[in-house]
Amino acid sequence: MTREAFVNGEYTDYNKSFIHIEDRGYQFADGVYEVFAIIESKIVDYEGHIKRLYRSLNELRIISPIQKKSYKFHIKEIIKRNIINNGLVYLQVTRGVASRDFKFPKNSKSSIVIIGKNSPSDYYNDNFNKGISVKTTNDLRWKRVDIKSLNLLPPVLAKQFAVDNNCDEAWLLDENGYITEGSSSNAWIVKNKTVITRPVSNSILNGITRSTLIKSLEKVGYKYSERRFNLNDIKDADEAFITSATQFVMPVIRVNNIKIGNGNVGKFTILFKEIYFKSISLS
Ligand code: PMP
Repeated sequence: MTREAFVNGEYTDYNKSFIHIEDRGYQFADGVYEVFAIIESKIVDYEGHIKRLYRSLNELRIISPIQKKSYKFHIKEIIKRNIINNGLVYLQVTRGVASRDFKFPKNSKSSIVIIGKNSPSDYYNDNFNKGISVKTTNDLRWKRVDIKSLNLLPPVLAKQFAVDNNCDEAWLLDENGYITEGSSSNAWIVKNKTVITRPVSNSILNGITRSTLIKSLEKVGYKYSERRFNLNDIKDADEAFITSATQFVMPVIRVNNIKIGNGNVGKFTILFKEIYFKSISLS
């Protein structure tokens, strides 16, 4: 089977697909993206992701290269053509190609790329059962990380720092020592049967997984608090976990040298995973 990508209106061989060398995504990270989880060949929480894509585009004044209603068709087509059962679809839109100049080009046409891939089977469940380790590091990102832009060098460096320290994810510390979020996930702790996560602002990405989990907590009447937390709160926490489209709900069993709870996957995290999967929409 040939892997296929959707590139600027055409389906192309993944290995022969190309983008112009003066694409502003390449030169300036002048673009936005979304990652959609795929479960049994269906898109998880499509509406939330597409709404956030349009918000990101509007914030950067990038014009969508295709009609809003066409996104789903092309994502579905990528799922079909690549036989994606469980995995992800990555979608990126940039301001397009123009001779290098900081200011917006007058007549550029936005570029779009959609690719997808399967995840190794049992990858999620195996990781969930083990739990992950987290390393903290300073949040060096720009002040508009609510926009899901291609400007990803700080999280790349943070994630590598975590990996270099035998951890799976980095939690980012703001200038007051509070966790903003993970390098590519939202951060949560559980204390005294209350689940705590940082409120939405310009300093975190408003995660779609986060929103769906909050809705499902409300449905079952579980207490949650949107407030900041720091390393002292983590020391006192009974459980911790992350959320993201690719990791869903994923337990954290260690942060730096702090063992969370008894160092095993927490019972509330198991419950949250269950209620999360009951609340997702598949389309
Ligand atoms: N925060 C950051 C910085 C991220 O990169 C991600 C992953 N896209 C998230 C949070 C989680 O967002 P979502 O649940 O929409 O994947």
